[in-house]
Amino acid sequence: MRRKLVVANRKMNGSLASNQVFLEGLLLGTQDYPYADYAVCVPHPYLFQAEAILKGSAIAWGGQNMSRYESGAYTGSVSPRMLTEFGCEYVIIGHSERRQRGHDTDLAIGERFEVAAKAGLKPILCIGETLAEYEAGITDLVTIRQLNAVIQELGIKGLASGVIAYEPVWAIGTGKAASPAHAQNILSFLRKHIAMLDADIANNIRILYGGSVNATNATELFSMPDIDGGLVGSASLNTADFVAICQAASNAYR
Ligand code: PEP
Repeated sequence: MRRKLVVANRKMNGSLASNQVFLEGLLLGTQDYPYADYAVCVPHPYLFQAEAILKGSAIAWGGQNMSRYESGAYTGSVSPRMLTEFGCEYVIIGHSERRQRGHDTDLAIGERFEVAAKAGLKPILCIGETLAEYEAGITDLVTIRQLNAVIQELGIKGLASGVIAYEPVWAIGTGKAASPAHAQNILSFLRKHIAMLDADIANNIRILYGGSVNATNATELFSMPDIDGGLVGSASLNTADFVAICQAASNAYR
């Protein structure tokens, strides 16, 4: 059985003081919920703080992006090895907020995934359709194109080191989560696509749902057989809400 994974995407939020409150609250708040895995993805300058507070705990941490290059003249970029030096286990790759602003193409995302995995990170590959694509009924085409960009880059075996997060763009930060049935439908479709290439990987890879997951809808979303947890933006800015989502994930295991 796949353990649920709940990942906080704190985006460009936080401060030393507020992060400390959140991270310490999370350590305390999740103590009674050991049946799921948790991670917090913070802005790069706060990685040292996440490491200082979370090291030795069951909660992992990670970055929200990284360069597709290992080192060199890339002013303003952060390499995969820099993330691992600060103890990161995860890195978010291809978030729609980066795809939409043109920073990330399918090709660049495939390359990023590959160098992240090579550095020993677990890439969290974000895929998902826009509202226009959803309304046009092409969610499956879009998500498969985005997934295949990574599979083409490093082969199906290479996908195994990562996590997939299906995040419909229309659900991100809007308060309008996909229905559990819609999310389940797409995740099952993605898993079947992977199974055609490698049944073991399909069975073991964690596929998360992201997009307005909150303390109220988490239990129903996580009860779906193919939803292996959540990538959580807005609700990760409030410790109590995020802990309630962690509780829903842990409870889903039993
Ligand atoms: C996200 O940005 O990855 C996300 C899921 O945000 P939200 O939970 O706010 O929709």
